[in-house]
This record gives sequence, structure tokens and C-alpha cells, in this order.
Amino acid sequence: MGSGQVTSTSEPFDFQGKHVVVAGLGVSGVPAAKVLHARGAIVTVVNDGDDARAREQAAELRALGITVRLGDGATLPEGTELIVTAPGWKPDKPLFTAAAEAGVPVWGDVELAWRLRGPDAAPWLAVTGTNGKTTTVQMLASILKAAGLRTAAVGNIGVSLLDVVLGEGEYDVLAVELSSYQLHWAPSLRAHSAAVLNLAPDHLDWHGSMEAYAADKGRIYEGNRVACVYNVADKLTEELVREADVEEGCRAIGFTLGTPAPSQLGVVDGILVDRAFVEMRQKNAQELAEVSDIHPPAPHNIANALAAAALARAFGVPATAVREGLRAFRPDAHRIAHIADIGSVAYVDDSKATNTHAAEASLASYESIVWIAGGLAKGATFDELVAKSAKRLRGAVLIGADRALIREALARHAPEVPVVDLDRTDTGAMLQAVKEAKRLAQPGDTVLLAPACASMDMFTNYNQRGDAFAAAVRELEA
Ligand code: ADP
Repeated sequence: MGSGQVTSTSEPFDFQGKHVVVAGLGVSGVPAAKVLHARGAIVTVVNDGDDARAREQAAELRALGITVRLGDGATLPEGTELIVTAPGWKPDKPLFTAAAEAGVPVWGDVELAWRLRGPDAAPWLAVTGTNGKTTTVQMLASILKAAGLRTAAVGNIGVSLLDVVLGEGEYDVLAVELSSYQLHWAPSLRAHSAAVLNLAPDHLDWHGSMEAYAADKGRIYEGNRVACVYNVADKLTEELVREADVEEGCRAIGFTLGTPAPSQLGVVDGILVDRAFVEMRQKNAQELAEVSDIHPPAPHNIANALAAAALARAFGVPATAVREGLRAFRPDAHRIAHIADIGSVAYVDDSKATNTHAAEASLASYESIVWIAGGLAKGATFDELVAKSAKRLRGAVLIGADRALIREALARHAPEVPVVDLDRTDTGAMLQAVKEAKRLAQPGDTVLLAPACASMDMFTNYNQRGDAFAAAVRELEA
């Protein structure tokens, strides 16, 4: 961890008369174009698509005097001084190659929001990681609120940072979820403190390699003032802290499910303990909360709670607020959601486990499982997941386009586990999957939907997949 070399590049930016290209319409592009226009920039929006929705949005922007070019997001307009891109646009697009050659900077939605903050803007406590981001920022916001602070969970979570930065609300501090895409395009972001929860291969087609993905996640630590929070069990996150340039005095703070060393938060006899933010003359550890204060108390969720607590403590929040905030928190739907018990078998919806790393955490939360899995693998392999989870599997029911990949991994690493392979994608498929799972389950087991895959081959999104599972369980219950 280097320090003292941070140059703040977040000086107020004068948009007046600047030729700015907004790349991509949509949720971030339209408001970005409007605010840039309002600040005096000469805005051109470029968009690959030319469908009805794009035309509607283009008409709205043109009415304001903004130029919109539909059906061509590749060519860099003459005289461009800055590009503001939608976070999902891949860095290898021709537009960005042309920008790099012309020395034109590229910002994402987060960078734009960061640059538009006022002089007394609320500091950011930032969270990234392959899994657990949303849960952790929500826990963090709950803790900050319990401490009486004016705050909100914002960013990749659905509440736009641009809205928050430009809006009326007054905040003391923000709990900010950042995706790897957003971090890639946010070169001058400087958080008060930040956490990388974990790092497993994901979105590699976008970033190009695991190294590039990790480097983008690691940007969250750049210029941190108080704490860089890392996962003791995930060496990669610690390495990213070591490589970051931070402000003088900023500390590396680890979180662990084991006993914490000094400068760490961890767990001792079912109690969450802080050995990082304690006044030494008082004592060398501060009790924060009990594991039973966390909902649900699954191991990965305890890790999320520790990360949230570390960021809150870095901001000076008292231990009592950590406990209160965790107690008050309930996760969003489809994250280890207990749906029902039927005949001593629990049915749990973790439809949000859309990659193998998330599914591994989910499967590690139960002793004996009938696993419902499958969908779109997004290039993932399943050997490690199945090998690590094999001893917990009572059976498996496989659905979706890439289920053969999981079936083959089961055959290699858990040949004794009974597998039902469902070759159908109609709306009744989930009901049949749940019925098959019920047939395989024994009293005391958990039927767990943790697909390790994306849902779009059979469903609109993970919400719909989880809802279909819950509906099927209710039908069996009735
Ligand atoms: P994200 O916003 O990063 O997608 P969520 O909080 O929405 O994260 O959780 C997504 C899924 O990831 C959950 O359903 C769960 O299966 C899994 N998960 C949550 N926290 C963790 C963690 N700390 N480590 C591994 N997997 C996790």
C-alpha cells in the first residue's frame, strides 16, 4: 500500500462549451446527456441501436437541442473532448480505440457523478466484489441509519448516483455499490473507505482477463482516506490493497470468519468482534453483535456483515449501531429466502446465485441438500463447485440450457449422487423440478435453488426464476 502519491484529479470540471459525446442511451445515458447539456456542454449522443425505444428517447433529447446519432456507436465525432459512456460498453469498442488514439478521456456514469458532486458532498463508503455487494451496502446503510446518519444505499443497486448527487436529499455519507464495469470507467473516484468482498472469475468476456477484472475491482481502493477493507480468506483482495495508492494514514483492515488478529474484524464464539477500531487503552477488542443478529446467519452473509461493520466503524459508528443496524436488516428477495417447510424439508430460494462462486457460498450454508441448478453457464466450469459441495448433496435436479455441464461435473466428482435431468424449458419446468426435488429429499434436508447460472434461457431474469420456484413450492404445500 503506497501513500502520499495521490493526486486529486477530481477538481470541479467546467463543461461550458465542451464537445461531449454520450455513448449509449438508456438508464444512464439519457440523464447524463441532460445534465451535461444543462451545464453548457455541446452534447452528441451516439447509440448502436435504432429501435422504437431508442427513437423515443432520441426525440426527447433532440427537443432539448441535443444531437443524437442512432445506429452508429462506433465513430468518434470530430472535435470530441470527452466521452461519457454507459458502464456496460466494452472497452475494446472502436469508439474507445479512436478516443485513446486521439487522447480523449472516457468517463462512466460513476465518474460523472463523482465530478458533479458539490464541495461539501457526502463522503462515499464503497463496496465491490464478485458476490454480496447489494447485501453489504444495504447492511451498511442500515447500520449508518441506526447511528442517526442521513444515508442511502446507491450505485449499481438501482438508485442512480447521478440522481443522488444532483438531487435535493442531504446526506452525511453514502453506501455505494460499484460494479467492475463502473470502476473501470471511474479513474478519479476517491472513497472515504472501501471494501472488496471477494474475487472470483466473472464477466471475463468483458474485461478480457482475470488480471484486468481484478485490476478494475482494485481501483476502488485508490486514494482511500481511512480504511481499505479486504477479505482475509481471499488473498487476491489483500493483494489489491497492497497495490493501491492511498492517502497517508489509511489502514488495511481485514475481515475473517475466524478469530481476528489486530486490525481485523472477526468472529469469536458466535460474537462479531472488532480488533481494528478500538481504543487500545480501553481494551483490545470491541464486541459488535451476535451472529444471531444477522439475517440469514449463513457464513457468506456473516462475511458481508463484517465488511459492512468494518466500513461503518471506519466512519466512526459506535458498536451499538452496528448491532441495531444488523438486527433491522432483511435481505432482498431471492437471496437465501426461506419459502416453506414441507414435511421437515426446507425450501430455499437463492435464485440470485447466478455464478459458481455464489452457489458455492449458498451450498456451504446447509448440511444436506437437494440442489436445483442450471441455466446459462456464461462460460463457467463446474468441477470445483461440485467437488467442494459433493458431500452435502443428497441429490440434484438440473434445468436449463447448459445443464449438461453440471451433469458431467457431477458424474466426475459425485457419481453416487442421484441426478434428475429435466429436458424442458416451458413454464411447467420449475414445478416438475420442485416435485423431483421433493421426491429425492429426506426429512431434515434443504431443497435449494442455487442455479450457479444466469436465468435468461428460461426466464426473464433471476426474480422470475425465484418466483416460479416459490410458486411451485406453494403448490406442493397446498
Ligand atoms: P451482488 O450484488 O454482488 O450480486 P447480492 O448481495 O445480491 O450480491 O448476492 C448475490 C448472491 O451471491 C446471493 O444470492 C448469494 O448466493 C451470493 N452471495 C452473497 N454474499 C456472498 C459472499 N460474501 N460470498 C459469496 N457469495 C455470496
